[in-house]
Amino acid sequence: MKGLFIRTYGCQMNVYDSERIRDVLRPLGYAPVDAPESADLVVVNTCHIREKATEKVYSELGQLKRMKEASGGRMTIAVAGCVAQAEGEELIRRQPAVDLVLGPQAYHKLPEMIARASRAIGDRLETEFDTVEKFDALPKTRDADGPAAFVSVQEGCDKFCTFCVVPYTRGAEMSRRVDDIVLETRSLASQGVREITLLGQNVNAFHGPAPAIEGGEDWTLGQLCRHLAKIGGIERIRYTTSHPRDMNDDLIAAHGDTPALMPFLHLPVQSGSDRILKAMNRGHTAGQYRDIIARVRHARPGIAIASDFIVGFPGESDADFEATMQLVRDIGYAIAYSFKYSSRPGTPAAEMHGHVSEAVKDERLQTLQALLRLQQTEFNAAQIGKTLPVLVTGKGRNAGQMHGRSPYLQAVHFDGPESLNGQIVDVRIVGASLNSLTAELLQVREGAL
Ligand code: SAM
Ligand code: SF4
Repeated sequence: MKGLFIRTYGCQMNVYDSERIRDVLRPLGYAPVDAPESADLVVVNTCHIREKATEKVYSELGQLKRMKEASGGRMTIAVAGCVAQAEGEELIRRQPAVDLVLGPQAYHKLPEMIARASRAIGDRLETEFDTVEKFDALPKTRDADGPAAFVSVQEGCDKFCTFCVVPYTRGAEMSRRVDDIVLETRSLASQGVREITLLGQNVNAFHGPAPAIEGGEDWTLGQLCRHLAKIGGIERIRYTTSHPRDMNDDLIAAHGDTPALMPFLHLPVQSGSDRILKAMNRGHTAGQYRDIIARVRHARPGIAIASDFIVGFPGESDADFEATMQLVRDIGYAIAYSFKYSSRPGTPAAEMHGHVSEAVKDERLQTLQALLRLQQTEFNAAQIGKTLPVLVTGKGRNAGQMHGRSPYLQAVHFDGPESLNGQIVDVRIVGASLNSLTAELLQVREGAL
């Protein structure tokens, strides 16, 4: 057995990719280890979305270099993901201890690259774009790691928001075949997975070909969700991350007619100012976003809404920022992620006039986050007294405690036996804080204990 250590940065797509990297390396005798020091192969799966994320990668590589030297050169260092795609050979130039560089579309080639590297021949770099090849080449079944799992259904992005590197690092938008998604989901369900999260950079742009028996037409994400909900064992379906422009009527209807589709929607809006949304090339107005949320809430009353925000986009005035604050007040978020605008080389926004100072960005971020924290706390507190079904995902921090997640994706802690792991149980919510809920176990469904 050889030791494999994977460090994952960035989005859930990267978390999923790291699991697939682990899967393709298992037949070569690589097994996960807990620390990079004891690994023969270290894969750093990187994120390029903001400058800070990229810098973290270089500092981690510096530490790995020292470990590699201490191991007498035995350790192989591979850099995967979006920094690998964006920086390519520059990465090897800046950190020569790196043995392999592979972009997000090249993971299935990792075994071949390692073999070549061990014979000290050939290329260290694989950053070709071929999503179709990647989807086809990765194993169709995989090992589950607990009762909740990600399933990739779509990759890449054609939206070209002016601030974003994803269309350059992940390539063109591309959907996976429904047959393959079903195979992977069935394999997960047979291993006890109860909840799947369908993943894609633009997941609701999904338009994968349906199975021949269903006519072979391209399906929407709504159709896919309804189909996957029929797979025995799959009780919960989520999807992330979606774009307002692709929030079509069928997907909104699915939120009303598919109970397995969880009442949680992550729909990033980035800004509440139409002027800024236009400069960002988001392709919708704040009013259109409000309308989508109203329709989703009509289809599924009580649904939790999540979002992403960027403050300090070039040209953002106090009035533009206030429009964002007003949108947040109007919508009321269950949770949201907010970032200071980070200028990314090669993106159109990097060339725009009116870059906002760090001090103003800091102040706006603090103001926005204070409001978002308040809303999150209120949303959590509103669950007190309710009975909620919780998917138990593992042991809690204290003895005798278990944790899980609510339909609204909140972390829930309660006292209960370990045998509940992987089950969906009813709990009564008795307490709430910013980041989690506490609960009492009410009843265990038949056969759970
Ligand atoms: N496709 C998704 C969408 O359109 O909403 C988001 C994908 S992106 C990986 C995740 C989040 O990172 C974005 O929603 C945005 O808020 C943030 N982000 C992307 N580029 C950024 C930049 N240059 N500076 C700051 N935040 C950025
Ligand atoms: Fe980036 Fe915009 Fe595509 Fe999201 S939709 S991945 S923010 S370009």
